[in-house]
Amino acid sequence: KLTLEKYLSWINEFSQKVIDKKDYLSDLDSKIGDGDHGNNLARGVTAVQQMLTAKQPQDLTAALKLTAMALISKVGGAAGPLYGTAFLEMAKTSSQTTELAELLTAATAGLQKRGQAKAGDKTMVDVWLPVTAALKNADLTSTVIEKAVASTKPLVAKRGRASYLGERSIGHLDPGAVSSGYLFEALLVAED
Ligand code: ADP
Ligand code: MG
Ligand code: MG
Repeated sequence: KLTLEKYLSWINEFSQKVIDKKDYLSDLDSKIGDGDHGNNLARGVTAVQQMLTAKQPQDLTAALKLTAMALISKVGGAAGPLYGTAFLEMAKTSSQTTELAELLTAATAGLQKRGQAKAGDKTMVDVWLPVTAALKNADLTSTVIEKAVASTKPLVAKRGRASYLGERSIGHLDPGAVSSGYLFEALLVAED
């Protein structure tokens, strides 16, 4: 189950990782996109930290909602509304249940509804889907996450800017899959 305390350590851990890996994420995006993913997301997580510090949310739902709002307003591009939707769906679901598998199921469904990406389209969905499935079976590990991220490398991009490259997107990791990998690695850190 996700508590407010665990959530705050999860999002702090993720924020730190994104800031540390900002240049790497943008380099990945420069191979198959426009080279801004790390900068976009770093701006977003900085806004999330400011928002959480300023508003001091007293429950999980409020914290998730503030995160979503900060991401939607500051990340921009494709990833902003997508990450924002994922956290907003978790916020909505958290008033009924705080079971992580259920929160992530709602988040992934929201992502797919918003972006229309299927498994194998070489997007962040290729990480969210297997991570959600693993959480349902209570067997999320770093290996599951690493495999999911790596699985995007040989794929042809079907959604987002990378899809403009067609076959030339083969052989590169999807930047949003890599940043989503950081999100779930951060969850594992927050959980122990
Ligand atoms: P932009 O492409 O607008 O510059 P970013 O570089 O911040 O935005 O984010 C790119 C990432 O967004 C991609 O690596 C991919 O994971 C994700 N993405 C793009 N379009 C979609 C989509 N339709 N569904 C899911 N994820 C997507
Ligand atoms: Mg980009
Ligand atoms: Mg862009």
